[in-house]
Amino acid sequence: MPRILALIFSVLLSLPSFGATLINDTETEKLLYELIEPLASAADIPKNRLQIHIVNDDDFNAFVSGGEDVYVYTGLLRQIKNPSAFQAVIAHEMGHMLGGHTAQLSDRMSAEMKRTMLIQALGIGLMVAGGNPTLGAGVMAGAGGVAQQSMLAFTRDEERIADNMGVDLMHRAKLDTNGFITVFEQMHEMTGAFETKINPNRINHPLTTERLNNVRTQIERLGKKSDSAPSNETSAFELVRAKLIGYLDTSSHVLNLYPYSDKSDSAIYARAISNMRIGDLTTARSGTKTLINRNPNNPYFYELLGDIEYQLGNYDDSVYAYEKSLELTNDAPQIETALALVLTARNGVGDNAHAIELCKRSLLHEPAPLTYWVLARAYGDTDAGRSDWAMAEYYNMIGKDKDAKKYAKHAQRKLKKSDSEYIKSGELLK
Ligand SMILES: [Zn+2]
Repeated sequence: MPRILALIFSVLLSLPSFGATLINDTETEKLLYELIEPLASAADIPKNRLQIHIVNDDDFNAFVSGGEDVYVYTGLLRQIKNPSAFQAVIAHEMGHMLGGHTAQLSDRMSAEMKRTMLIQALGIGLMVAGGNPTLGAGVMAGAGGVAQQSMLAFTRDEERIADNMGVDLMHRAKLDTNGFITVFEQMHEMTGAFETKINPNRINHPLTTERLNNVRTQIERLGKKSDSAPSNETSAFELVRAKLIGYLDTSSHVLNLYPYSDKSDSAIYARAISNMRIGDLTTARSGTKTLINRNPNNPYFYELLGDIEYQLGNYDDSVYAYEKSLELTNDAPQIETALALVLTARNGVGDNAHAIELCKRSLLHEPAPLTYWVLARAYGDTDAGRSDWAMAEYYNMIGKDKDAKKYAKHAQRKLKKSDSEYIKSGELLK
């Protein structure tokens, strides 16, 4: 245990810690992509340009920036009633974008956001192994400021236009437009119940019966063309919600929301994750195994098992679980990186070579600092030049230019001029 924690901490501590954090998590990202993609195509955002970012912040909020970057707050995911209501929030935000309402987001802010997006680091699972979620995830400087600026700048007219465009987008995407009604009713309840806690200006938009009536009229005008979200989407949504709560809330709050009497998959999931976080790894493992027995084809339950076994020091079982997870999903760079990390910890025959291969594949899909860090570890002393290059890339991604240059120089001294890593190191020295 101490060894693993020390290892994770050394990665975490070198990340700057300020502002809100961004979360990387394959399961959450895939679900959000599935839910948002139909809206994005109805809004003519090209499929491959849609970028979804999960902001670790309790606000009931989401926003769209620069046309293709969608920021979703964990506070929204944890509280919103159902997938259609979630889609309505995103549709409304896209409505602002289509209406040109987001233009006031300053260039400096959006440049800062792009830069900090690159600092995204660890998966939600691995980050918790370090014990401190706020250190673990990538850091987005001034996220709160950006969001507040974009949400407060809208006028009443703009809100109405965004609602209308949002309802229209939902309709064109053949999604359940009633999601709008659900979300307005919920926001209404929340301002009532949380009056003292939530500043109404910080809940995305001023809620009026006027807006609710307006969307009702719109929905009637368009006629019913859509059905409510398919049940598999709803259960995937409930699992993601449980996961976020398990990772981000205190264990007593987790038990309030998911008491032991609740035997649903999402409740077991939330409790298992929460148990893992408080260090009760054997209870966490038994819950996770129950989930796997019930759902042998869910890659994310295996991912969680891999994380737990890793923390228990059972590297063989961890490798098996992560391999199984990868077998059941495709295009999961974060899970590839996690498996590579475990392989470097196990350090058996061929493990480092396999880890290198996994990191390279992961980096092709999604460059991430942790992946470079694991890659450097996998090269190790046997290939010190490439190891130094990977460290240079790691420092470059987390914005430590001096260290990046230092390692790039070391790398060049050890590598041949014809090596591609020599050339890449040269790029970092410019
Ligand atoms: Zn709005």
